[in-house]
Amino acid sequence: MKAEGYIALSVPNLKGKELDYVTEAVKTEWVSTGGPYIKDFENAIADYVHVPAAVACQSGTAGLHLALLALGIGAGEEVIVPTLTFIAAVNPVRYVGAEPVFMDCDDSLTMDPDKLESFCREECDCIDGTLIHKSSGRRIRAVVVVHVFGNMADMERIMQVAERYHLKVVEDATEALGTYYLSGKYAGRYAGTIGDIGVYSFNGNKIITTGGGGMVVSQDSDLVERCRFLSTQAKKDVVYFVHEEIGYNYRMTNLQAALGLAQMEQLEDFVRIKTENYEEYQRCGLNILPFRKGIRSNHWFYSFLSKDRDGLIKYLDSCHIQSRPVWQLLHTLKPYQEAQTYKIEKALWYYDRIVNIPCSSNLTKEDIARVAACVREYENRVG
Ligand SMILES: *Cc1c(COP(=O)(O)O)cnc(C)c1O
Repeated sequence: MKAEGYIALSVPNLKGKELDYVTEAVKTEWVSTGGPYIKDFENAIADYVHVPAAVACQSGTAGLHLALLALGIGAGEEVIVPTLTFIAAVNPVRYVGAEPVFMDCDDSLTMDPDKLESFCREECDCIDGTLIHKSSGRRIRAVVVVHVFGNMADMERIMQVAERYHLKVVEDATEALGTYYLSGKYAGRYAGTIGDIGVYSFNGNKIITTGGGGMVVSQDSDLVERCRFLSTQAKKDVVYFVHEEIGYNYRMTNLQAALGLAQMEQLEDFVRIKTENYEEYQRCGLNILPFRKGIRSNHWFYSFLSKDRDGLIKYLDSCHIQSRPVWQLLHTLKPYQEAQTYKIEKALWYYDRIVNIPCSSNLTKEDIARVAACVREYENRVG
């Protein structure tokens, strides 16, 4: 095998006005948590996903923390979460002192609405508009829905269940900026804007990046303003430093927002390229998971189903191609081994098989052909 260029899994693409805007921020000396790019970036996201308000913050994780705080979720309560996702979707549940209940996925890799419903029906009592988990006696307040890899969770079903059982819905749309429904009840609605509150991430591997950053959105401006307040140290009076509760230093900087604004100008191009690359992999004969029907997915990450996950990852590495398994299931990780779970089956099956293959918007046709050839070669070899 000859040494060839390294193909990374998912890297930033900064070929728009990033340098111009960041330079402007530096030249004007607006580099911290004040400055015009922050409002511009918030407005750009709010306009794009059609919500009345958005607040920028330091990371998707911080955004999820703010979302749970704004909904008033706290100690002694429980939140239903997926097991097949990144740990940052769930850690904020513990930050606020609540306990997770881990739920299985369906074939879209997002939360199984049937299991969510049967859990609420069979494992809980609904008393005066309050859902009580029979085994723990604790109140279940909310469900965190993750739009895994840019797919859309089944929001029609999940919202029905949430309404019936009085659950708040937090959408972890950190991977799904740009994904929206084409048809059905929520036609035109973007991932992150259907539940009570939604969160995007602009970490370096996401579809757009600010280096690090996040955004909270909601149809309810009051919730967003509550997040803004908590993210600025819960400062009531800007001159006299009056604080009446515990806040956080979670604001985004103008430098990050300058990057973000330039990235937003290219988001639709990134979605188009990622969709074309996904289709190119399919044309090359790779067995990659489809996205849900009736949506426009942002095609952020591609999930190949391998016959020998670890062997394939190792082989691709030897070909200078970066790949990775899906996340370790959260209920198996040390901080959550004692946590409650409900009928987790499908997530185990997908965990054993998925390999995420390179998906950056910088990929060339030749890169894709090379990745596909290496994958096919290995998979044929193992049978
Ligand atoms: C990236 C990600 C987060 C966290 O976002 P950060 O900006 O990295 O803090 C949370 N949940 C999921 C599913 C993610 O992929």
